[in-house]
Formats: sequence, C-alpha cells, structure tokens
Amino acid sequence: MALLETDNLYVTYSEKKGFSGKEQVINAVNGVNLEIRKGEILSIAGESGCGKSTLAKAIMKLVKIKSGDILFEGKSIVNLKSQKDLRIFYQKVQMIFQNPYASLNPKMKIGEILKEPLEINTKFSKKNMNEIVTKRLNDVGLDSSVVDLYPHEFSGGQRQRIAIARALVLKPELIIADEPVSALDASIQAQIINLIKDLKQNLNLTFLFISHDLSVIRYISDRVAVMYLGEIVEIGLTQEIFNSPKHPYTAALLSAVPKIGENNIKMQALKGELPSPQNLPKGCKFHTRCPYAMDKCATNTPPEVIFSDFHVCKCFLYSDK
Ligand code: SF4
Repeated sequence: MALLETDNLYVTYSEKKGFSGKEQVINAVNGVNLEIRKGEILSIAGESGCGKSTLAKAIMKLVKIKSGDILFEGKSIVNLKSQKDLRIFYQKVQMIFQNPYASLNPKMKIGEILKEPLEINTKFSKKNMNEIVTKRLNDVGLDSSVVDLYPHEFSGGQRQRIAIARALVLKPELIIADEPVSALDASIQAQIINLIKDLKQNLNLTFLFISHDLSVIRYISDRVAVMYLGEIVEIGLTQEIFNSPKHPYTAALLSAVPKIGENNIKMQALKGELPSPQNLPKGCKFHTRCPYAMDKCATNTPPEVIFSDFHVCKCFLYSDK
C-alpha cells in the first residue's frame, strides 16, 4: 500500500540570475508520479540539480507546488493550512537534512532539542517526555547522559544521530532523508547508513532517501527511482536498477559504479552538461546527451515501458516491446 503518492506533480520556482537580476523560472519537478510504500526505503538517484531535493521539499510542504497532487495515507496534503492539520501531518512525516549542525539549534541543549517537538505537539508529562527522549537516544546509539550537552560538543556523526533521534520523537511513519550522510566522513557514513537500515527494520519506518552516491543507494534501498531534469525516467527494485538498467541515463550514471551485472545496455559514461531547467529540452529530456537518441526522441514524449511488477522505464528504445 502506498503511504505517500505524488500525482503528476510539478514544481517551479523563480530565481534572480546574473547582473540584471532578472527573474527566471526554474522547472524543478516535471510531472512526477511516485508511490512510497509502507515499510520500504525508496531512494531517488540523479545528478545534482535534477530536482531530488525540490521533490523532498514539496512533500514536506516547504515549497509551493505548481500543479498535481501529493497524497499521504490516501488524502491530499496540498491544501493543508490550519495549524492543527499541519501539526498532525508533521507528526507523521519528518525530515533529516544533510548538515546536522545547521539543523540543530546551537543554543539549546540536546535534551531541550529533543523535547521541543513533544512540548509543541503533545500534552505528555515531563516524566513521559524524558522517557521518550531517553528511548530515542538509545535507538540511535546514544545514552541519556548527552541531554545536558550542546550540539558543538559532538562529532558530525553524533550530531546526525541526534538529528535522527529528534526526527523520531513523535513516532513518524515516513522520514525524508535528504543527503543525510554526504557531509560525513566515509567511515561515519557507513555507521549512519546502517543505523537507518536498523531503524527501518526495528521501528517499521518508511524512508524516502535522497543521495547522489550510488554506492550508498545500492546498499540501503529496496527500490530506486532515477530522476533526470525533474522527471522519473526509470524506477525498479534495487537489483533491477543496478543489475539490469534499461534507461540510457541510468546506465550512464551506473557506468561510474563498479561491479555491475552483465545484462545491461552498453554502459557509456555520462557526457555533456545537464541542460538548464529553465529551458527544458522537448521530447525526451535526455535526448541532448543520449548516445542512442533517434529523431523522434527530440520531439515526442517517450512511452512508459513495463519490464516487471516494479521495473518501469521511459524510453523509445523499448517501445515495440
Ligand atoms: Fe535516449 Fe531516446 Fe531513450 Fe531518450 S527516448 S533515453 S533519447 S533512446
């Protein structure tokens, strides 16, 4: 069952560019249909600037959507406005950010940081809140002795553990993790990745995991969606995407990752720059960089081709399949 769905979601925003300061419209998310199923880790892969983080922000209601819908537990969240409705939503959906130092208030003690969401959203007694804080710290591998310390007294990895503990205090259903390990040292990254896997298992959590690091994605994900210029071009089980990629863009991304399976389309390293999201290419958005591009790719929208219950790819290469 889908815990969260996006339906033909579009997000645009304006940015001032250059000396003229002229406003330019960025087409960040372009018709995304995605289902996040309860209990899974669904990862979004793609180059920097492909719209992954904007998609996450749209789900968290941190940016306005242009059109389409976002459904959580079957109900649209797009028009949630009242404090009460937003509070209920944010109890169930939490976010972990890339930089744990920036996301923790440096003037607050760890105990205060973790208790704050409980004080705002619940009427629990002080004793009850203290018990929850201790439990969540234990869940992330810390103990209650840290509650009187400040964020700057911890390493980057410990700070990310604290940020995860804070995301957990309200017992969310879904956690959006936006590049949660990319600011950490490689050895610490592995610890946090394993922690997220354990939390998913032990607390029956669902994650939308965003990363530019394909090795991390391969290790942590149940399913992977590949995003290019704001569009999902391929989605499938992790082993389907990594062992048998179908879309030329996925294959190009994976060409940099060692130990790929045998039955792929020919891997060709990604060439050229990502086109500007201000002027999206017509037809298949990847046609300007695709080694397999045909005439129709520049003008027509590629069809969705189904390879298995989970594996779908948008490309003309397989349209007579
Ligand atoms: Fe390449 Fe055409 Fe497939 Fe796009 S639709 S990925 S341009 S072959």
